Amino acid sequence: MTQREQERTTDPGPSPDQDQEKTVRDLDSDSDRDQDCRPQRPQRPPRAHRPLAQSASYQPGDTIRYRSRWKLQDSDPEPLDDEGLRVVLIGDQAVGKSSLASVFAGTSDRDQEESPDTFERTLTVDGEETTLTVMDTWDRRHNEACLLAGTAYVIVYSVADRSSFEAAAELRITLRRARQNERLPIIIVGNKSDLVRAREVTTQEGLACAVVFDCKFIETSASLNHNVLELFEGVVRQLRLYRGAGVNALTPPTLTPRRKQSLTERARRLLDRIVSRGNHRVSLRARSKSCHDLAVL
Ligand code: GDP
Ligand code: MG
Repeated sequence: MTQREQERTTDPGPSPDQDQEKTVRDLDSDSDRDQDCRPQRPQRPPRAHRPLAQSASYQPGDTIRYRSRWKLQDSDPEPLDDEGLRVVLIGDQAVGKSSLASVFAGTSDRDQEESPDTFERTLTVDGEETTLTVMDTWDRRHNEACLLAGTAYVIVYSVADRSSFEAAAELRITLRRARQNERLPIIIVGNKSDLVRAREVTTQEGLACAVVFDCKFIETSASLNHNVLELFEGVVRQLRLYRGAGVNALTPPTLTPRRKQSLTERARRLLDRIVSRGNHRVSLRARSKSCHDLAVL
């Protein structure tokens, strides 16, 4: 929860460390980021099992495997033993990335600080078993390695923090630049939907952002465990759909060069219009219908 949110609500959650906060703007100019890429030694031994009973979304047959640190460098001897279904959570500090991961992993909010930043969960979606690797490495590394590691991305903002929404849009652009020859499933997530009175970003604005950036969109509340399983099941469905349609991580995007060049400008223009002119919301609603549906391309 951001400091601003805390001032506006009675939620007693801990305040984020503002000194650690970085924006995407910082990322582009951060000359120290290579240094941040250095692999960190695990602080504690990896835990093989977690208290699965704490997971509201846990299903019989699901398995969860934890890693204390994901290895991001070529020199790392640890092979990628999953099928390449790796979702990376990115977004501003304190928007709820770790909370979403914790809920999906089945760890409680209480021991979130102790939770590893990467884990695998095997879950059954539409009758088919899939192992999904979830990487919550952005806050700790906040570097280009995270932008290259995922086969899918979840860009999180807080509906109670407009600056985090703007950061999410910028992050989408940064991600497109980092993976410009690839097309990836990306889901924009408006978290903290439970903070009704503190809300600064409407659902329509979130949808508009998803329309502009060709992403999926969902609002969640990690605190209430609302839509968290739907989000990660949606990630699995999107990955399957992309692969099934032959749109895998190595396939160049179908976007035309003209569209790629003007994306940033288009995004900012449209977002501005949405904020300033309510009548755009009506037409947008029709266009944004499919953005809501994480089960279709
Ligand atoms: P991260 O920095 O993006 O990983 O954010 P955290 O998961 O650490 O969450 C930051 C703060 O927001 C913590 O105090 C959480 O308890 C709180 N938080 C996370 N998700 C929600 C949510 O859905 N609703 C509310 N009200 N608070 C949340
Ligand atoms: Mg975190």
